[in-house]
Amino acid sequence: MRILITGAAGFLGSHLCDRLIQEGHTVVGMDNFITGDPNNLAHLAGNPNFIFIRHDVSNFIFVPGKIDAVLHFASPASPNPKSPYGYVNLPIQTMKAGALGTHNTLGLARAHRAKFLLASTSEIYGDPLEHPQTESYYGHVDPIGLRSVYDEAKRFAEALTMAYHRFHDIDTRIVRIFNTYGPRMHLDDGRVVPNFLQQALRNEPLTIYGDGSQTRSFCYVDDLIEGIVRLLYSSEHRPVNIGNPVETTIKEFAETINKLVGNRAGVVYKKEERLEGDPQRRQPDITRALEILGWKPLVSLEEGISRTIPFFKKSMGIV
Ligand code: NAD
Ligand code: UDP
Repeated sequence: MRILITGAAGFLGSHLCDRLIQEGHTVVGMDNFITGDPNNLAHLAGNPNFIFIRHDVSNFIFVPGKIDAVLHFASPASPNPKSPYGYVNLPIQTMKAGALGTHNTLGLARAHRAKFLLASTSEIYGDPLEHPQTESYYGHVDPIGLRSVYDEAKRFAEALTMAYHRFHDIDTRIVRIFNTYGPRMHLDDGRVVPNFLQQALRNEPLTIYGDGSQTRSFCYVDDLIEGIVRLLYSSEHRPVNIGNPVETTIKEFAETINKLVGNRAGVVYKKEERLEGDPQRRQPDITRALEILGWKPLVSLEEGISRTIPFFKKSMGIV
């Protein structure tokens, strides 16, 4: 296939480019670098199976040549208002990437009669009242809260994807991605894994927002990419949760990071920095992924973090 990946210079997009090229496909990567990094694609320069187009997906998209699949990953993804990459600081761009970007990429898929895969998120469940979250849960989202620029854009994107599927018969997929981590997360991203790893590697206390009782379920990037590729090759039009169901409190997670890095500085609680609407619990129910894709994560948290540490050391200039 000849596949367009938007958000190609980002964390997940760049891993997806690598994997699909490895599978023998040709990839057209698109990005405007708003939160991405050209370094994530540097190793693909000169690869005959990769071309890059610098473009903002909120504007009309033209891609020369035939496209067989469109994977829409372009969107800021970090909630952290302390980060310049946080969607709270890029509210209009985030809504445009989720709304106009999804419209443009679906229009492109329609023009090419291409498959379409939307990168959605566990955030569409908001601060969930059901636990763990199955795909049938409608969510609990404040439509005007600080996180709404991301959550509602993704909910709109899912609705538009289903409208194109039902009305224009586009062959669509929706992946609801839960917290994923690994090499190529930006140092300034502001999400918990880059923050904690950098603090631990500097032998500083890890900053826990709130009391650390909130939970997340962390998936290593290789597992996630495997799930997405299986979904792409499937014929499933309903949303599919892809994430690691092993749930941990942020406090336990901080302790694990400190142990794996060998940091003795402990943790510090920053209650005032917990973002309004920060979900208290998050854990995917992956029954659908297991039944339909035969997928489940294989990499443990300890293994995944150990594989991620060398990237952060290198990026931070630690030998
Ligand atoms: P990222 O910030 O590393 O990557 C996003 C990429 O999209 C960046 O390269 C950015 O420059 C690009 N981009 C943003 N707006 C754009 C626009 N208008 N035009 C062109 N390019 C644009 O984040 P990520 O973690 O790799 O997330 C990728 C996708 O996966 C996002 O859609 C995000 O919502 C989704 N997602 C990620 C996670 C996760 O845990 N990493 C969880 C849920 C959903
Ligand atoms: N968090 C934290 N310290 C940090 C960064 C994040 O305690 O330095 C918390 C944050 O409040 C949230 C969890 O870690 O409860 C996961 O945050 P992240 O930014 O990774 O993304 P989210 O899962 O909220 O989308």
